[in-house]
Order: sequence, then C-alpha cells, then structure tokens
Amino acid sequence: MIWNETIECMDREEMRKLQSIRLKRVVEHAYHNTPFYRKKMQEAGISPEDIESVDDISKLPFTTKQDLRDNYPFGLMAVPMSEVVRLHASSGTTGKPIVVGYTRKDLSIWSEVVARCLYAYGVTKEDIVQVSYGYGLFTGGLGLHDGVQKIGGTVIPMSSGNTQKQIQLMHDFGAKALACTPSYALFLGETIRDSGLPREEFQLKVGIFGAEPWTENMRKEIEESLGIKAYDIYGLTEISGPGVGCECEYQDGTHLWEDHFYPEIIDPETLQPLPAGEQGELVFTTITKEGMPMLRYRTRDLTSLHYETCRCGRTAVRMSRILGRSDDMLIIRGVNVFPSQVESVILELPEFEPHYVIHVDRINNVDTFQVQVEVRPEYYSDEMNKILELKKKITDRLQSVIGLQPDVKIVEPRSIERSMGKAKRVFDNRKLV
Ligand code: ADP
Ligand code: ZN
Repeated sequence: MIWNETIECMDREEMRKLQSIRLKRVVEHAYHNTPFYRKKMQEAGISPEDIESVDDISKLPFTTKQDLRDNYPFGLMAVPMSEVVRLHASSGTTGKPIVVGYTRKDLSIWSEVVARCLYAYGVTKEDIVQVSYGYGLFTGGLGLHDGVQKIGGTVIPMSSGNTQKQIQLMHDFGAKALACTPSYALFLGETIRDSGLPREEFQLKVGIFGAEPWTENMRKEIEESLGIKAYDIYGLTEISGPGVGCECEYQDGTHLWEDHFYPEIIDPETLQPLPAGEQGELVFTTITKEGMPMLRYRTRDLTSLHYETCRCGRTAVRMSRILGRSDDMLIIRGVNVFPSQVESVILELPEFEPHYVIHVDRINNVDTFQVQVEVRPEYYSDEMNKILELKKKITDRLQSVIGLQPDVKIVEPRSIERSMGKAKRVFDNRKLV
C-alpha cells in the first residue's frame, strides 16, 4: 500500500525539480534567519543566489553535531520561538544534549512521512499499533504516535518499560503492530515466551523497528520469536525523528523520503560526494523544515544509496542497511571492528542467544577485546569441555570475519542486562584514559 503515490512514485526528474525548488527556499530561509548559517556561508564565500538546483548542494558547508552543541539550546532556530510548538532532544553519548524545535508545519510533515512508513508496512486505520518507543524528549514515542493518528489507526501509547504490562495489553487489546527498538523487541519476545500466554492468542503481525543498528540475522531472530514480519524504520532527531525512511514489503533497502530530506553520501575522510551505490557517510539537508533547518547535516551513519525503481513501484531512493555510525567503529589493535559484525556472527550460530556485550580496554599498552555472549539454555552445560568447544567455535568464526581474535566469555542464559530502549552493547574503557 502506498500513502502518497504522487510523491513516493514520482518520476526522478520531477523529483529533482521539486527538490531544487525546495532547496533554494530552505537555503534562503536559513541564511536570512539563522546567523550561524549566514556566517558559515559567508566564510565559504557563497550566498543563496549560488544555489540554483540540487547540483549546487556541494557548495554548501556541512553542519555537525558539534555545531548543534555549540549553539545549545536554541541558536540554530530559524523562526521566532513563538512559532515553535514542540521541542525534542537526544542525549547522545557525551556532552550537552542536542535540542531541536518544530513548527506546526514541521510536525505535520513528520507525521506525513511516518504515515508513508505505516502504509508501506501494511498498517491502516483498521489497525491497533502499540508504541513502545520511549515517550518524552526522545523522538521515537511521539513520532510514531502522531503517524498512527495521521492514518487514523488506533494508538496504544505504551512507551517503554513495564514489560509485563506491555505483554498483557498487547494480548488483550489485539495490537497488530509493535513499534520499539529491535533490542526491546527481543526482550518482549522473551517475556511473551515466559508469560505462558499462547502466542496464537496475539494478533501481532508487524514490527516497526529502528533507532539503533540491527542486522539481517537479528531480523530473523525477532521474526521467529514474535511470529511477525519485522520492518526497518530510520530516522534521527536532528532531521525530525523516526520516519526519515522505511522499508517496503520487498525489504530491499530503506526508502528515504527525499522530497523532505535530501540525502547525499560523502567520503568521511575527504568530505567529497560519492557516486550512487558507494558506501560512505550519509548527509541530509532538510529541504522543507522551518523551525530548525539542517543544511548538509553529517549523520555519521555509514551506508550507500540506490536509485533504481523498487519492485514496490516507489521511485524513492533506497538506503542499504546501516553498517553503524562512524563513531561506533572500534579500532582494536589497528583493526576496524563494527559491533554489527560481531552481532552477525553471534546470531548465525544456533548455540547462542542474541544477547551480547563487547568490552574493550587497554592493558599494558595492548588493546583487549572481550565479547560476552549468552549460551542458549539447551546448550548450557556444566561440563567444562563442552563450554570450551563452544568458545572455540565462536572465537574462530569471529576471528575469520573480523580478522582479530577476541577473548570470548560465554555466560549463562539471562545474565546480560536486557534493554528497553537503545541497547548499550559496547563498553570502550580506553576512552576514559
Ligand atoms: P542519539 O544520537 O542520542 O542516538 P537519535 O535518536 O536521534 O539520538 O538517534 C539517531 C541515530 O540512531 C541515527 O543517526 C542512527 O545512527 C541510529 N538509527 C536510527 N534508526 C536506525 C535504523 N533503522 N538502523 C540503524 N540505525 C538507526
Ligand atoms: Zn520498495
């Protein structure tokens, strides 16, 4: 199902024209209303007249998370605060939070793009959607909430936490779709298994999962555990929140809603734009945002873009699965390691639960790399050599995929803390020194 066929299936040439008109407008808006952007553009020696079309976008300077921090809280607003009707914030990992402000129109566009996602998943006004992303400053809860209301569906504003109650209400109310992080979906699946409530009494069919990187293997795991089809939803606070893009029924990449969020891929080292299909850092320009426009915002997310028409009929560009954020990449003894590679290996092996943590440290000037993973109850054993066998199996597999030997610690089922929001799986203690 397609919510907005005119836009989602628009001829690519038409889309470029629309994007160019909108880009010109947003650049003017930012230049005239945000001293930060005006200064940056002046320093780069350009003015709004230099931007004729999206072909000129690379003339614009980049915007980074640091710029948002430096202008905390409202320095990047392009409208008077009386026009701002909502604030959200993301904690990030360090430093001051990032604050974003939305006008009424910004909120309306946000719910429009979430509506497109819901339709792409086959969710309509007939359906009940349980929103188990956190409500509050985090964009997940309210973002999905407004989208469900936009299509006229029934929203259960659960927020995260209170896991037993989540299961009970999902069962009693007959939720068809569940929106939460993939890691919380795993925890909910586990809790359903333990609850004794028969799975066939649940109406759940669709999972709307995002806000953190997840792998194809994790998708299979969640789908089996909950008996559903699991879809990706992508977004970030700086650009609006969840719903910047989503998967369609073919799950052949995540469609991005580029009539509002113009994407580019750049080489994170040279900062030069990369051609379609090549992997690099995703950069967005919000071409319709009023409250806090973002010009060439560097997401740090690593992915690639594909412009062929999708089997679903949508022409909207597709982004491949996010490998991780460039700042999530660990460099251990000189080797680049993405947590998603570790996840992929663990989930490939039937003996292990999809629960793991990675500890990195530096002892006597040498990096240590420990992976803790839970063994499945049916493989759990008191016999030392059985555990050693398992340990060897996973160590070898990780070594061949990553090119680095980890110190694997096999732990008992249920011993790793479960997450209700974004999972924290990497502990790099070297950063503390
Ligand atoms: P924070 O920066 O505090 O995590 P956000 O909630 O804005 O705050 O997080 C946005 C980031 O979450 C994205 O830049 C991306 O790294 C990650 N993310 C969101 N959705 C997905 C997804 N579907 N797949 C992978 N990563 C995702
Ligand atoms: Zn598609």
